[in-house]
Amino acid sequence: MFSDLRPLPLDPLWALQNAHRDDPRPHKLNLGIGIYRDAHGHTPVLNAVQHAERALADAAPSKVYRPLSGNADLNAAMTRLLLGNHTPTLERAVTVQTVGGTGALRTLADLIASANPEATIWTSNPGYANHHPLMRAAGLLTAEYPWQDDGTGQTDLQPILGALGHAQPGDILLVQGCCHNPTGIDLSQESWHALARYCHEHGLIPLIDMAYQGLGQGLTEDAQGLRIMTRHLGTVLIAASCSKNMGLYCERTGTATVLTPHPAELPDVLSVLEGIARRTYSMPPEHGAAIATNLLNNPAPWHHELTAMRDRIRTVRAALGAALRAANAPQDLLSIEQHQGMFSLLPLTPDQMDTLQRDHAIYGTREGRINIAGIPDDAITRLAQALVAVYGR
Ligand code: PMP
Repeated sequence: MFSDLRPLPLDPLWALQNAHRDDPRPHKLNLGIGIYRDAHGHTPVLNAVQHAERALADAAPSKVYRPLSGNADLNAAMTRLLLGNHTPTLERAVTVQTVGGTGALRTLADLIASANPEATIWTSNPGYANHHPLMRAAGLLTAEYPWQDDGTGQTDLQPILGALGHAQPGDILLVQGCCHNPTGIDLSQESWHALARYCHEHGLIPLIDMAYQGLGQGLTEDAQGLRIMTRHLGTVLIAASCSKNMGLYCERTGTATVLTPHPAELPDVLSVLEGIARRTYSMPPEHGAAIATNLLNNPAPWHHELTAMRDRIRTVRAALGAALRAANAPQDLLSIEQHQGMFSLLPLTPDQMDTLQRDHAIYGTREGRINIAGIPDDAITRLAQALVAVYGR
């Protein structure tokens, strides 16, 4: 049965992890994978999460099967976190719990494949490495629009609209809601409005991938683009992740939300979403959902820690910018200062990224992505000097 199977090439991100693990140099720096680290390089469990886990253990609720759509309280709280308290919008939405943000994307991909198998999914280039494989695995076609800096640290809209000129009505515009992975370049408010108008005029449906809400400017601020879309457009799909902003990575907690212009359609949409869950994994895991619900419904301690994470990312970014200036970095490298969220895409070639790894023990992806949240305080100057040295080669 398996004799004709060929092993898949190792995912470059895991290959990078392995190379970092096996590097004996004590000053090695892992800026590859997208996880938050504190000033000392640790990824601790949030206090709010520990508190919620203790409360859950004390309450010892039953482990009986849960509904196919997961934890109803999580779904309600996440819907509000994403959409705000605008009742007419909330009344057009249905949310199901999913297996992380990845599961949300796949659930929505399966929904799209059920509703309109001809739809092409338009995703950014550069973009999140898993978007294409995930959409194709659901049997959908994919295409790309460019995602580049307009010179002010924000996304240049014109090339995007140029590429979307080839899209058909009913196609899906997959766009990241904030803190774009891998570039750190986001859309301005005006661009979100223009993109919403474009979707309206050309019959495109946005699928917003919200993996970093709260890690850019703030929970509400980071949802502004998404909310512009949901106010202007009838049909909007949202994949959300609790992995980063709650530090729940391995608990696999996320949600898929669907907005329709006709609330009467919501029960049918829900039944298809539940059918997708049933045939894939039956129901999503409860533990992370129960923790996330506790954080969302008792938000002050979580907000406090999320603010600390966000502030640290911004402080590290500013400090890296200052260190780059002190090292006489070229303007190109200084664009890091303008980016949002955990990532920046360096203006370095794959060969230069290899040099960074070989000569300086600094690990980022070959495309040039580094995790700003992964830089320990005591490595900032060394990183800046290494970047300048490698850039000048
Ligand atoms: N979308 C984007 C843009 C991401 O960066 C990630 C996580 N790296 C995901 C979705 C998936 O999130 P999760 O880990 O919750 O599956």
